[in-house]
Amino acid sequence: MSTTVPAALIERVIRPAVRALKAYSVPSAEGLIKLDAMENPYTLPPELIDRWLERLRQVQLNRYPDPEAAELKSRLRRYLELPAGLDLMLGNGSDELIQILAMAVTGRGSHLLAPEPSFAMYPLIARAAGLEYLGVPLREGDFSLDLGRMLSAFEEHRPLLSFIASPNNPTGNLFPEAEVEALIEASPGLVVIDEAYHAFSGCTLLGTLERFPNVLLLRTLSKVGLAGLRLGVLIGRREWLAELDKLRLPYNINVLSQVSATFLLEHAEVFERQAQAIRRERGTLLEALRSLETVQVWPSQANFLLLRVPDATAVYQRLKQRGVLVKCLHGAHPQLENCLRVTVSTPAENREFLGALRHALAAA
Ligand SMILES: *Cc1c(COP(=O)(O)O)cnc(C)c1O
Repeated sequence: MSTTVPAALIERVIRPAVRALKAYSVPSAEGLIKLDAMENPYTLPPELIDRWLERLRQVQLNRYPDPEAAELKSRLRRYLELPAGLDLMLGNGSDELIQILAMAVTGRGSHLLAPEPSFAMYPLIARAAGLEYLGVPLREGDFSLDLGRMLSAFEEHRPLLSFIASPNNPTGNLFPEAEVEALIEASPGLVVIDEAYHAFSGCTLLGTLERFPNVLLLRTLSKVGLAGLRLGVLIGRREWLAELDKLRLPYNINVLSQVSATFLLEHAEVFERQAQAIRRERGTLLEALRSLETVQVWPSQANFLLLRVPDATAVYQRLKQRGVLVKCLHGAHPQLENCLRVTVSTPAENREFLGALRHALAAA
């Protein structure tokens, strides 16, 4: 018996835009030091794990979770220090919230705009939702915003949805508040400020939500140490969130994530201490990379560093052979030629990475 599906049948059923997509692929990290996905390398203190497991014991897995995740939301309001008048909506990772935003504006012949290079999920989600993606290049060299070019793009294309990741992934830089405000003022639609790396920058544009009616802000617990829970937060004015909430599937935040995050955010100081350690290590790693003659490295306000090497594909492979997994960005965007992105990790793992990198560069 043949179990293949005829290509013509797939073509008849699946939308062309979907067929043209490439699935987001995640390489196996088995046996490797995992520095490819901006995860927090630190684990929780053992006594906290015991108390967390005690909480989980009471969870009723036979019941649906609270559809509103009310207890978690109220904990998050305090954790995020949300001003009154602003609301929040939870997603199964901020990826899900980006998807909901794209679904909400698709079908109006509009674009999803973002500076580029930026987060790989923006174009992927835009196209999956049937929304045209418009990338506006950042400036060569320092990856700063090209305000003139951005403003012309707003003028010409009138995009209804724009994403500004600050600090930006994979470049690590923050965009100045005044420039982001200029974009918000010029935008005919929504501007979403993605602060996935807020814990490592110490800066926020939360204040813009009170000043402008067309801004939303994204945060996530993934980079601070809870990537496994898949919990993203969209912050904004009620009227927007009321519309977007209609696209959220019921019970999108599972009960284990709700209970775990509610408990763990009572101990947010643990994550703040870990973020501090990562920020310190970021400086150490940056200096070490700067001392390598053939490496160009950019300063970062996030928990990763972007570097350029003579032959990124070869260096990536050699790092892997030496047991270290980073992200190879060569080919992802013209401005990322021969670039690698590495997560800032523990002092020990960063040393392993540096040792492996020296070998990889010497072999080139
Ligand atoms: C990592 C990252 C996210 C986080 O996605 P989750 O789905 O919450 O894990 C969002 N935006 C940017 C820019 C990121 O780099």
